[in-house]
Amino acid sequence: MGTIKQVIEGNYCIGCGVCPFLDTNLSISFNENGEYQAVQSVDSVTSPADMICPFANSSLNEDTLGKELFSKQNGIRHNDEIGYYLKTYVGYAISDGFRDRGSSGGMVSWIIAQLFTKNKIDAVIHVKESPEQGLMYSYQVSHSIEEMETGAKSKYYPIQLSNVLDYVKNHDERFAIVGIPCFIKAVRQLEAIDNTIASRIRYHIGLVCGHLKSTFFALSEAWEAGIPPQDVTLVDFRYKLPGHAASDYAIKAEGVVSGKETEVVVPTRDLSTTNWGYGYFKYNACEYCDDVLAETADITCGDAWLPGYDKDSSGTNVVVVRTQEMLDLITSGANEVHLEEVPAKLVAQSQRSGLRHRREGLAYRLYLKDRKNGWRPTKRVQASNHIPYLRKKVYEDRMELTEQSFVAFREALKSPKGMKRFNEIMQPIVRKYQRVDNPIHRRLLRKMKSVAKKMHKKLTK
Ligand SMILES: Cc1cc2nc3c(=O)[nH]c(=O)nc-3n(C[C@H](O)[C@H](O)[C@H](O)COP(=O)(O)OP(=O)(O)OC[C@H]3O[C@@H](n4cnc5c(N)ncnc54)[C@H](O)[C@@H]3O)c2cc1C
Ligand code: SF4
Ligand code: SF4
Repeated sequence: MGTIKQVIEGNYCIGCGVCPFLDTNLSISFNENGEYQAVQSVDSVTSPADMICPFANSSLNEDTLGKELFSKQNGIRHNDEIGYYLKTYVGYAISDGFRDRGSSGGMVSWIIAQLFTKNKIDAVIHVKESPEQGLMYSYQVSHSIEEMETGAKSKYYPIQLSNVLDYVKNHDERFAIVGIPCFIKAVRQLEAIDNTIASRIRYHIGLVCGHLKSTFFALSEAWEAGIPPQDVTLVDFRYKLPGHAASDYAIKAEGVVSGKETEVVVPTRDLSTTNWGYGYFKYNACEYCDDVLAETADITCGDAWLPGYDKDSSGTNVVVVRTQEMLDLITSGANEVHLEEVPAKLVAQSQRSGLRHRREGLAYRLYLKDRKNGWRPTKRVQASNHIPYLRKKVYEDRMELTEQSFVAFREALKSPKGMKRFNEIMQPIVRKYQRVDNPIHRRLLRKMKSVAKKMHKKLTK
């Protein structure tokens, strides 16, 4: 097992904000890259919170936690990519505009609404706008369906749990929590040693996770859309474009331009920082994570990035159900949701590139770390150098893209050229990456296949 000191010093902290709950020597603040990070006020080798840090405690990993939580559920199965599951679905909410307001199919907000309606919770802990704290978004507590609905959609923005955990400690209420995989894992680890938190947080709703972004992501998007970083107030990261594929969405940036309140909608395809494969402004911790499908959550929802479903701009979820209570909850709403049961492997397929990056890619990154002999988190994935040469280059170049994106954005903030300066710095690295991610032999092969297909069509007419 590692320590929080090692996590902080190695840059493996995701800034979840759970450790200050157990150790007043720890607090959470922004670093120069716009990421939340834990900070020790007094240097200390160990901390009472070492047990609950998702990157320090390797004994309570997603497999051991998942086994403890779900293995006794009748009919439970396990899959190495999605964890434990009772049933897997694709679907969306039909009723009350949840789908229109949501990022994907609106299932997460609909599930929370069901928990309120069936009187199973008094409040939900999730992420909402937070202008009074000078932030775009933060974790907050909503006590009704109406309050909860204003917090729909994915926030690719730093968030942390310390304030809401204090709220849970001081309020004898029944909660559901929504979170990305490492946050749900940290809460589960805390629940393993804190009975009050365990008895109050009744439901854990996971979001599939590619990676988390620093504040630079929102600022860069808004800047390219025409609102300078100092004047932007809000970015909606998932603005649906009717009639387009679900993956072809836009952002809506709000702020002040020339003294006027302004709103701008720009498709993400027209912005240079939105290619998730480049990993711009990604927390380093995400490179050492192997949980894509929130394996310790009672239910997990993500985007159905799958042929056939992706075409619908309204958005469709993938859903992994891990408890009978959640299964009963979602199947009891027959007229309110559209659900198709699908094989677990189809859900994994919807996250193919994220899973590859955190299986094969993680194995290689762990190998690279081990060569340097430093401490690193213990993962379920084993370090390995036995992967194809070009894939190694892909993972090396992705690390460079991430690291340099922070440097380039800080440069852009100082430069009169703004985002142009950012792109000047990034373009050579992007080109190098594209050459290995999409090499010439693969492009030629694709071209030959398409020519052969066209000729075959002509000849058989
Ligand atoms: C950082 C991040 C990365 C993601 N990566 C992927 C991915 O790679 N592949 C994929 O399929 N899906 C990913 N998702 C999940 C996806 O974007 C949707 O959130 C999910 O499909 C649920 O959509 P919905 O319409 O059902 O949710 P909605 O009905 O829109 O409800 C979303 C709920 O999540 C809460 N929420 C929003 N952001 C956060 C946050 N950062 N932390 C905790 N709670 C939050 C909201 O407050 C709201 O309650 C990611 C989400 C996040 C936040
Ligand atoms: S990952 Fe979370 S628990 Fe671990 S050091 Fe960072 S803030 Fe604390
Ligand atoms: S990729 Fe992993 S570490 Fe990063 S935010 Fe998502 S769940 Fe957390």
